[in-house]
Amino acid sequence: MPMIVPQADPGAGYRALRAEIDAAVARVLASGWYILGEEGAAFEAEFAAWLGTAHAIGCASGTDALVLALRGLGIGHGCAVATVSHTAVATVAAIEIAGAVPVLIDIDPLHYTMDPVELTAVLEHPPASLPPIRAVIPVHLYGQACDLPPILAACARHGVAVIEDCSQAHGATLGGRKVGTFSEIAAFSLYPTKNLGALGDAGALATNDAALAARIGALRQYGWQERYVSAERGINSRLDEVQAAILRARLPHLDAQNARRQAIAAAYDEAVPDPPARRAAAGHVFHQYVIRSTDRPALQTRLRAEGIGTAVHYPVPVHRQPAYRNRVALGPSGCRESEKASEEILSLPMFPELTDAQVAHVCEQLSTARGFAPER
Ligand SMILES: *Cc1c(COP(=O)(O)O)cnc(C)c1O
Repeated sequence: MPMIVPQADPGAGYRALRAEIDAAVARVLASGWYILGEEGAAFEAEFAAWLGTAHAIGCASGTDALVLALRGLGIGHGCAVATVSHTAVATVAAIEIAGAVPVLIDIDPLHYTMDPVELTAVLEHPPASLPPIRAVIPVHLYGQACDLPPILAACARHGVAVIEDCSQAHGATLGGRKVGTFSEIAAFSLYPTKNLGALGDAGALATNDAALAARIGALRQYGWQERYVSAERGINSRLDEVQAAILRARLPHLDAQNARRQAIAAAYDEAVPDPPARRAAAGHVFHQYVIRSTDRPALQTRLRAEGIGTAVHYPVPVHRQPAYRNRVALGPSGCRESEKASEEILSLPMFPELTDAQVAHVCEQLSTARGFAPER
């Protein structure tokens, strides 16, 4: 019977903090107040303080956080928004939910994040078939910051808003500064498996702009600025008090948990022939530890036989999925690197509660496995 090492284990995250989380949930259940109350306000204040922004706004999911960011900036029908195809489908879905048209940029194959050169070319020569590009959503993927400086510079030159998608990068840094503090507004998913996760759906936005924060605070609840009076058309995307209290219990542990992820990554680095590239000046928080294999099915099978779970984030780029293919606009390269990556990438077990024995087992099996030989 081999040692079992799951790829992810949200239940282990709960068990590790069971007493604190149970107390937080019990506190809310006894309070008699379940939606948008003191816990939510306290979480927003604590999250903003941890991140280093003036404001944070809780909402119901990462998808909604992106939709609310776009709506808060006035971006919707008649606008195009650029992002990547190599991301959680939610990034692209949010653009269409907001009423805008996505245009998908290829990735830099070393870091798996938006290619700033292609983005700059698209901003300079936007596809004639598209409405004007009004925003860019760069995604900090797998726990690592994307190449923000040239993206921010190109967007500033063209008067285009930037919304960082930080759903996989809670605590990641660039030049010592946390991602989510570089753009007008940033969106975070707080889904259970993220570096900071609730035990249900949750999301958050962060900004230094008080007026934008107030507008989004209204948009998330029917557009109410005052109770029962909608100032504009809003949605229902509230953070509930149980999830807010759970997030408050978990937030103080996030930095230590990110450090544990980094220690696991350092151990894997010794066991794989081609460790994931780290961007200079970036603090990588390893939401995922992703390697490449030219024979991925064989490597997965081999690891599975040793009790080791793996996953692929993501097996089909958004522009090749049935809901989007032959329909969404792509940059001039046709997202070739995104397609290639999707065939070779493999996410190893990664969550802070992995034991040293589990990590050692994965390392031992990786050191003896074949089927890496990445092609670049
Ligand atoms: C998880 C994720 C989302 C979506 O978050 P939900 O909370 O599931 O709506 C968006 N973008 C990225 C990059 C993600 O990883």
